[in-house]
Amino acid sequence: MAQSPEEKREKARASALKAYYRDRFTEQYRQRRREQRARRREPGYQKRGRQTPEEKREKGRQRAKEWYYAHWETQEYKDNRKERNHRTRNNDEYRKRGREWMREWRKTHPRSEETRKRDNAKSMEHYWLHKDKRQTEEYREKACDVAKKYYHVRRAIKLEVGGSFTAKDVACIYDAQKGRCAACHENFKTTGRNRYCIDHIIPLKPKKGQPRGTNGPENLQLLCRSCNCRKYNLQPEEWERRR
Ligand SMILES: [Zn+2]
Repeated sequence: MAQSPEEKREKARASALKAYYRDRFTEQYRQRRREQRARRREPGYQKRGRQTPEEKREKGRQRAKEWYYAHWETQEYKDNRKERNHRTRNNDEYRKRGREWMREWRKTHPRSEETRKRDNAKSMEHYWLHKDKRQTEEYREKACDVAKKYYHVRRAIKLEVGGSFTAKDVACIYDAQKGRCAACHENFKTTGRNRYCIDHIIPLKPKKGQPRGTNGPENLQLLCRSCNCRKYNLQPEEWERRR
């Protein structure tokens, strides 16, 4: 079959490129071998035996550990992990399996009357021991702050957006806003569960076609309850115009 001039040119270029890379790598390999030989001639050179698979694995583990300690605090790592996390992506499946498993387990491991009573007594003891503590306003508010955080974590997982924040992040933002609402600049109430609301500047659940924010701390602000209710799912620009 006759080749068209374009095909010929294409072919020539491909083979030239191939030759170029072959030469380049050959030269590289030669250089490496030269270096190896030089190293062997050095005094004090110890011949390393071949690594056993176990040694190799151990080395890899060590490297992974080091990498983890260097990177675990970065947001990128956290987002990436959430993406990869099978549990997060298949939460419903996991929960269903867990419930079934527990049901099966209970069938094969029935609790005796005695154990049941003991467990109940334990939980009642705990209840009475910490009752007073739970009654305090301070404890409730603290629990409320944590609950707020987890509410958003769950919501973020459900909506499949990345990012996460901690209660500490929220405390930081609170300080940065000097205890005032970011929109109306009223002081937050000092007590009560509705002291402040955590708002996503770019909403997690925007109107159709609008950008969607993440659950990371950089997308958070604290609003008073009435401002938060009015903002709802507005984009920051629109919210700026409306208020
Ligand atoms: Zn406000």
